[in-house]
Amino acid sequence: MKSKQVHIFHGIPASAGIVMGKAVVIDRRKIEHYPRIRIPPRALGDEIKRFDEAVGVSYSQIEGAKKKLEAKEGLKEHSFILETHLMMLHDPVFSGRVKQLIKKDLINAEWALKIALQELEESFSQIDNDYIRSRVADTSFVGDRLLRNLTGKDTGGFHLPENSIIVAHDLSPADTAMMSKEKVLGFATDIGGQTSHTAIIARSLEMPAVVGLKDASTLLSPGDMLILDGISGIVIVNPSETQVSEYEHRARSYVTFELKLKEKASSPAITKDGHRIKVEGNLEFKEEIKTVIDHGAEGIGLYRTEFLYLNRKDIPTQQEHFEAYHTVVKAMAPHNTIIRTLDLGGDKFYSSLGDLTMEMNPAMGLRAIRFCLKEMDVFKTQLRGILMASHFGNTSIMFPMISGMEELLRAKDILEETKEDLRRQGVPFDEDIPLGIMIEVPSAAAIADMLAKEADFFSIGTNDLIQYAIAIDRKNEYVNYLYEPLHPGVLRLIKFIIDSAHNAGIAVSMCGEMAGESIYTPILLGLGIDALSTNALAIPHVKEMIRRIDLKRCKQIAGHILDIKTAEEIKAFLGREIGDRFPEVFGKEE
Ligand code: PEP
Ligand code: MG
Repeated sequence: MKSKQVHIFHGIPASAGIVMGKAVVIDRRKIEHYPRIRIPPRALGDEIKRFDEAVGVSYSQIEGAKKKLEAKEGLKEHSFILETHLMMLHDPVFSGRVKQLIKKDLINAEWALKIALQELEESFSQIDNDYIRSRVADTSFVGDRLLRNLTGKDTGGFHLPENSIIVAHDLSPADTAMMSKEKVLGFATDIGGQTSHTAIIARSLEMPAVVGLKDASTLLSPGDMLILDGISGIVIVNPSETQVSEYEHRARSYVTFELKLKEKASSPAITKDGHRIKVEGNLEFKEEIKTVIDHGAEGIGLYRTEFLYLNRKDIPTQQEHFEAYHTVVKAMAPHNTIIRTLDLGGDKFYSSLGDLTMEMNPAMGLRAIRFCLKEMDVFKTQLRGILMASHFGNTSIMFPMISGMEELLRAKDILEETKEDLRRQGVPFDEDIPLGIMIEVPSAAAIADMLAKEADFFSIGTNDLIQYAIAIDRKNEYVNYLYEPLHPGVLRLIKFIIDSAHNAGIAVSMCGEMAGESIYTPILLGLGIDALSTNALAIPHVKEMIRRIDLKRCKQIAGHILDIKTAEEIKAFLGREIGDRFPEVFGKEE
């Protein structure tokens, strides 16, 4: 920064830990300014050849990065991220679209690539799922590399001094994977989210990271002294001596804390007064199983199956479904795996470019169970795959986005028909496979007492429940500040859902992001939640919070909180209640 005054940037914590070092500002900004050139028809062949060559060079570069990743212990399982990039480079639909644009509009390869990428990014950004939306970044990393190779701009690695903190507009997963841990302490980027692949790699490298810092890479200067706090998501520039010594202390106690947590990750989570709460993992790809197990998951509470449908033109076959579920069910045995049926909008998962019919409001459109009830063949194919896998280990089926009784009864009928088909064919499956539903639509929450009589379990999807209950689009940055799990209205809904489930004698878990934030754990336990399912990295933290509280006190906390009128006051109360129990995270002295 020009002035040497202390300045604090606020971003999104993407990988926990605290480090101090010197800023290395890297200009990896996308090459945005390249000209639109008209190609004479006779030069079309050369232009297409130039594009093919750029694809070839990009392929070798990413393959090289992937090999490096595979050679590093602990990162092997993430090489599939770069595999996705390689698949995109080899995707005939994608390169076909670029070539079609070159030919049709007689334009240079860079411009055609730009249009094809925009089309792809738009189609992804319409999807109402944070994880999938953040795959837009993968698209642009691949596009960026192709452009650099087309324009002949340098794609080489970085030369870094020791104790560097990388500051960049964005970093690709390949760039991140290739950073040497000896020299790089952490990184800070202008854009990105917690679910971006770059963040995932940073976490498995155990390299602290803050993303979404907006303009840090423009405002910071090389050599600026930085404190990067990947727990709270802040970057302090030119810290005072007091800040340095405070953060040195926090960094040390956090490292000790993380080590202790890892040692106990696979132990059960039992409250001080002896109540065991199951903590499960959320899964998107079967390749993540090892990470989920290593972090102590006691089952899969949510297997988001929509990823099987992405990046392809056709629908997955029964065999493909079966193979994916079978791998997970077997790896998780004897624990249970809850497989959620497709939760994507109908028109959105076909990856054929230009063939995407956009809905005005996809979050409220033809998605999830609504789509499945319309496209019966797609639904039955998936149900058959799940049922077949249930023969090989504890499996449950879960329907997403149930909004009312008719929908649930209809979906149950179809499940019964599918079971009947399999019986006729002599295909074995678990006749008693539990059937649960996600409670994530306010109308379903309001009739939870009735729905509970028709389901074997509930799982509360707070990501959507909060979005619909407070009427805020979960991907709209302008209203993001209203997204509040502690909104008294949301807490009342959760209480009613849990009470209704228990009155009907069924278990209720939570699999939305709220389940993975340890600050909410005491309230959820107090309200009576039976299990929590969260992203892998949060599992040890949530388990540890459970170990440090007692259920009796949690019930008192929940009772008290239900009478408080604002989220702000609830938060302050919670801070006072649990800050002392988790000083390593909430920043109080031990
Ligand atoms: C939710 O809505 O809380 C949930 C877990 O489902 P998804 O994030 O996949 O919509
Ligand atoms: Mg949802």
